[in-house]
Amino acid sequence: MIDTLRLTAEGAKELLDRREVSGPELFAAYLEAIGERDPELHCYLHVCEDSGGDGIPIALKDVIGTRGIPTTAGSKILRGYVPVYDATVVARCKEHGLRVLGKTNTDEFAMGSSTENSAYGPSRNPWDPARVPGGSGGGSAAAVSAGLAPWALGSDTGGSIKQPSALCGNVGLRPTYGTVSRYGIVAFASSLDQVGPVAKNVRDCAYLYSIIAGRDPCDTTTVESPPVELPHRDDLKGVRVGVPVELNEHEAIEPGVRHAVERAIALCRDLGAEVGECSLPRSVDFGLPCYYLIAPAEASSNLARYDGVRYGHRSPHAEDRLAMYENTRDEGFGDEPKRRILVGTYALSAGYYDAYYGQAQKVRTVIAREHAEAFERFDLLVTPTSPSVAFALGGRTADPLAMYASDLLTIPSCMAGLPGLNIPCGLSDGLPVGLQLIGPQFAENMLFRVGHALEQAIGFDVVPERLR
Ligand code: GLN
Repeated sequence: MIDTLRLTAEGAKELLDRREVSGPELFAAYLEAIGERDPELHCYLHVCEDSGGDGIPIALKDVIGTRGIPTTAGSKILRGYVPVYDATVVARCKEHGLRVLGKTNTDEFAMGSSTENSAYGPSRNPWDPARVPGGSGGGSAAAVSAGLAPWALGSDTGGSIKQPSALCGNVGLRPTYGTVSRYGIVAFASSLDQVGPVAKNVRDCAYLYSIIAGRDPCDTTTVESPPVELPHRDDLKGVRVGVPVELNEHEAIEPGVRHAVERAIALCRDLGAEVGECSLPRSVDFGLPCYYLIAPAEASSNLARYDGVRYGHRSPHAEDRLAMYENTRDEGFGDEPKRRILVGTYALSAGYYDAYYGQAQKVRTVIAREHAEAFERFDLLVTPTSPSVAFALGGRTADPLAMYASDLLTIPSCMAGLPGLNIPCGLSDGLPVGLQLIGPQFAENMLFRVGHALEQAIGFDVVPERLR
């Protein structure tokens, strides 16, 4: 019997290498787990029945283009769309023998923090199905924590890997901007979008990152990144850990989250790190408002391609071409993409561009500088990932601003192009609390080292209590 709830990707690889289990047997074990638990959790939008491969299975967020496998980005406008090529990250996974289990649920076009904006219905949190798994990559995170995939790929524009990993109690990396190709990914906000791994532990996360990272001639924003070192040390000697006060003492942070994070910071000291305070005052005040100008502005441009002409939904109710465009977009997009297209188009329009998009880009530079100054004194920064634990389904859907506030602590470092790792650091009211480790550009190895050492010391059980 393969216990998919506990099996890590590294563990799966050992089983395969020692021929204790075959690729098809392993794949079948996950299909069985999906059959058992996915009707309740709804992590998958599409399950690949007959993969027949030999390698480790993997789940992919449904914004990642897969040749021959439907890719909807959680939107009605892409219902039935089957890409004719693989995203570069998918091609790299296949080169490593990884086999696609299926496509995981996401907020429509990755816009959201709960998966409730998916046109195909929300996913549920394996720790408590009455609560959200976070978003937008909630399907990937929930699948990994419920044993429906050993690991997964997500995408993160303002927190969509880090925040669901926090809410579901697993490990997620948003890599440095430019280290992983976006070729073949459904674009949301191109100056922010990143692809990254979701896993059960830091070593798996590092391993998957090593598979997908690297320059890609098809994505000119990519660069070569330092070789990945799988972490093994369990001390933090010589590491300087910065605690940004504004992001750790923000009033939105729940007491249970604050306590778990404080305990993790104390552990850093016990493990030999030097811990000190620092300040990111503008990041916390202006990060969120600037993001919600820049991301919608870029989305309004990226989503212009969904016009009913090239692919995806085309309205059958139209007399002429203009009506076809209008009806296609009206019928195909849900409320959140529409809201963002409106906000973004307004922010980019003549006469407003400088005041909104231009201004937000300048503030973004200030946020990046503020982080760079902190990294003159510290090797990495720690904060909570999400101000709250998983919230109730429906709890924030009526109030877009409350939903946007879920990203308060993940957005600033995304705006600065920096890597961020979420690791679980304890429970609050029986629900996982996520710790966010932020590094300077290309410092993924440092994040893995610190994340791994903390993970060993914390000893968090990643299997949801109700499934043990
Ligand atoms: N929740 C944020 C948003 O709605 C971030 C989403 C993401 O990272 N894709 O934009």
